[in-house]
Amino acid sequence: MSKYEPHADATPRRSEYLVFGQPEILDEDIDEVVSVLRSRWIGAGPRASRFEEQFRLYTGAAHAVAVSSCTAALHLALLGARIAPGDEVIVPAMTFAATANVVVHAGGVPVIADVDRDTMCLSPTDIERRITPRTRAVIAVHFAGRPFDIDAIFAVADAHGLTVIEDCAHAIETTVGGRHAGTFGAFSAFSFYVTKNVVTAEGGMLLTHDPDAAARARRLALHGLSADAWKRFSDDGFKHYEVEEPGFKYNMTDIQAALGLHQLARVERSLERRNEIWARYDDAFVDLPAATPAPVRPGTRHARHLYTLLLDLDHLDIGRDRVQRELHELGIGTGIHYRALHLHPYYRDRLPDDGASLANATWISERTISLPLGPSLTDDDVDDVIAAVTWVLRRHERARRAGHTTSRQMKPSPGAANPPRAGARST
Ligand SMILES: *Cc1c(COP(=O)(O)O)cnc(C)c1O
Repeated sequence: MSKYEPHADATPRRSEYLVFGQPEILDEDIDEVVSVLRSRWIGAGPRASRFEEQFRLYTGAAHAVAVSSCTAALHLALLGARIAPGDEVIVPAMTFAATANVVVHAGGVPVIADVDRDTMCLSPTDIERRITPRTRAVIAVHFAGRPFDIDAIFAVADAHGLTVIEDCAHAIETTVGGRHAGTFGAFSAFSFYVTKNVVTAEGGMLLTHDPDAAARARRLALHGLSADAWKRFSDDGFKHYEVEEPGFKYNMTDIQAALGLHQLARVERSLERRNEIWARYDDAFVDLPAATPAPVRPGTRHARHLYTLLLDLDHLDIGRDRVQRELHELGIGTGIHYRALHLHPYYRDRLPDDGASLANATWISERTISLPLGPSLTDDDVDDVIAAVTWVLRRHERARRAGHTTSRQMKPSPGAANPPRAGARST
């Protein structure tokens, strides 16, 4: 049954708040976590190794290293690419802050490049104009699960000797020509954060072709020690470890891996469900003052991580933030992916120009809104999202046409007790 209550003014207001990015946690996930707890082996151990191996087999990668987050994996990737102080690394303006933050942590300088409006992925031509003698690498994001232009990005990178790192935080199921995202670059980084397509609460995976780079990343993820801690305390007796270089605490625990094992096993089924929801949204929003996501390029597979609407602000009397607030007041949680990097103070203050060269990312930033999309959404939930989005956008389209702006404040639904803050999750 729909969570909407009949309302005198026919406003489609849900009684139960629909949280954006809620993970699907089934009994099999819970049982696996409980069995880890009962085993008392709760740190990095056999389940983390198994999750690593299953992820490696799923993607077809040569080497996989399970870590504590995608941010950690990106940091290790930059260290693997031997980024040195002052080296420049090109990153897209349209991404989560971690993509650029890690460049700073590795001692490099993030250089922000613009994206294409329709794909929201890094623009190959824009990369080219930002290359200097100090440029060493590019971190490209498969935005929302849509693959970036592999051929064009690698053509530019190869021509200039740049290492390509794939930010696959949205792209677990993404393929290009049947080959998985994350197997093209020298390194790639995946996220299992709570809102992502596979969740371990916090967690990430680093992939690479290079066995030595994989061994070093594994070492750096555990303080730079020579042997896995879980092997040190195994039945074969205690072995001394040696610190080979100062590393980090980036390993994944077995509690996290226990969640990931079953999530990964059902990721294709979950994608089928997200495909269905995606198609329903596409049909429902076709005539609204908003652009639905661009069609997928032939020969590629979209991982359906984020369903982003781009609001047609020329035909609405309110901006995106107000649309988000009104949906929130109707009981629908949404996300913003993203406010572009160069609009955040740290990066804005370090731009070489006023940001005018990042016009597409600015344009998307002002218009984009991500709708709930996940395997646990019921058909009625999807109906509710469609009804609320349609109601809000139609109403403000009419108001724009009538040539006045509405200032009427909508009151929160009495049924939606303590709804979470709109856009509370940022990744
Ligand atoms: C979520 C996300 C990250 C960071 O992932 P964590 O696992 O939270 O560290 C990095 N890049 C992008 C594009 C993301 O969406």
